[in-house]
Amino acid sequence: MSIAQSLVGIVQQEMAKHGVTRLVSVLVRHGALAAVVPHALEFAWQAVTQDTPLAGARLDMEEVPVRLRCSSCGKEFSPEECDRLMLIPCPSCGEDLGHEVLEGKELYIENLEAE
Ligand SMILES: [Zn+2]
Repeated sequence: MSIAQSLVGIVQQEMAKHGVTRLVSVLVRHGALAAVVPHALEFAWQAVTQDTPLAGARLDMEEVPVRLRCSSCGKEFSPEECDRLMLIPCPSCGEDLGHEVLEGKELYIENLEAE
C-alpha cells in the first residue's frame, strides 16, 4: 500500500508541474528484486486513487531485469533466475558470492500520460 501511496504523491507532483489534471496512464518500471507484486500494486493503486482525480487511470508495469557485476573478475551479467541471488555463478570465472547489484532493485515512474 505504501508503494502505491508514494507513486500517487509523485504523480500528483508531476501533474501539478505540467499543469494537467486528468491522468490517463502511468508506466512504472520495477526491478526484479524490488519485491513488487504487480497484481498487489495494481490493487493498491486502485484503492488509493479511488475518489481522487486519478481514479480510472491505467497503471502499466514493466519489469527491469537484474544486472550483476562479478565481485571477482568484474564481468557484468544478467542471471536467468534471481530467486537465490546469493549463489549465482559468474559466467566468466565461476565466482558465486558478493556480486554487486547494478540494476534490479529500483522502482520508478518511467512515463506519465495526462491531459
Ligand atoms: Zn567473474
